[in-house]
Amino acid sequence: MNRIGIIGGGTAGMTAAIYAVRGGCQATVFEQAMFGGQIVNTASIENYPGLYQVSGADYAMKLYEQCVALGVEFLFSGVTAARLEDREKILESGGKEHAFDAVIIANGAQYRKLGCPGEERLTGHGVSYCATCDGAFYRGKTACVVGGGNTALEDALFLSATCKEVYLIHRRQEFRAHQATVEALRKRENVHFILDSVVEEILGEDHMESLVVKNTVTGEAVNLEAQGVFVAIGVSPDNGLFSGQLELDGSGYLKAGEDCCTNLPGVYAAGDTRSKPLRQLVTAAADGAAAAVSAAAYLQLRE
Ligand code: NAP
Repeated sequence: MNRIGIIGGGTAGMTAAIYAVRGGCQATVFEQAMFGGQIVNTASIENYPGLYQVSGADYAMKLYEQCVALGVEFLFSGVTAARLEDREKILESGGKEHAFDAVIIANGAQYRKLGCPGEERLTGHGVSYCATCDGAFYRGKTACVVGGGNTALEDALFLSATCKEVYLIHRRQEFRAHQATVEALRKRENVHFILDSVVEEILGEDHMESLVVKNTVTGEAVNLEAQGVFVAIGVSPDNGLFSGQLELDGSGYLKAGEDCCTNLPGVYAAGDTRSKPLRQLVTAAADGAAAAVSAAAYLQLRE
């Protein structure tokens, strides 16, 4: 039986695994953390066709159970090296080498950091990258959210239900987030917009106490008291492991078309790690399916 190694157990990786086993292959998913990927941080899925108001964690659990029922193998260990150029592909994980006939890379993307003083030191002590994971710590308190995309505005909406005050800090006037989310947030009386502004420093001894916010138009900097800050300024890929073997675009995403084929035969890129215009749950699932079908077609032709 042909073996497909899948790097990443998020929506793209798990969907690829479902299609791979249903296509008659053996699928092994390598996941360095918890299965589910980014969607586990979403309180409520609202825009996946046919799934309405399901929590990201529940969705991820169902997907995982589906994979296990179909016979997908999960190894909860990160991939530390990859040799992809030969017919047999080798992935190193947990100090062992694993051989595959095809590899699907679905390793997602990592949280972007502000890079300001105090951020790293106070991570886990007021600085967070996941409102649905850590929001409950700020019940009745003041929290800030940084960013102007869907994640930031959804985080602010989520926090406004339990926090005393929520400050949304964004570097421009315009938002990338869906208009409906922006409008919903504007209706919340305890949400305050601080626009054209950037975070210069996060302050506090053992726990965050305030942050310094600078208006980029006037140059004025203010000290804003808050117990928590949720950094939601997007994600970036982590494909250093594959550079030199696979083509990356200028932002570090893996170059692959809608069929998810990379420049190497038998190697596919699926989900947020792939260079593409739209990164959503639905496009991650679509990529997983496309990558596994491309892999199965390659393996059939190769025999
Ligand atoms: P995003 O759409 O890339 O937005 C990132 C935001 O952070 C932008 O507003 C950006 O500002 C700002 N930003 C970036 N770097 C910054 C920095 N160094 N300092 C300050 N601000 C910075 O990221 P995202 O919101 O995490 O979303 C990622 C993808 O997932 C998107 O495709 C999004 O649509 C999708 N998503 C969808 C949903 C949904 O459909 N319900 C929910 C969550 C996420 P500028 O605008 O000025 O560049």
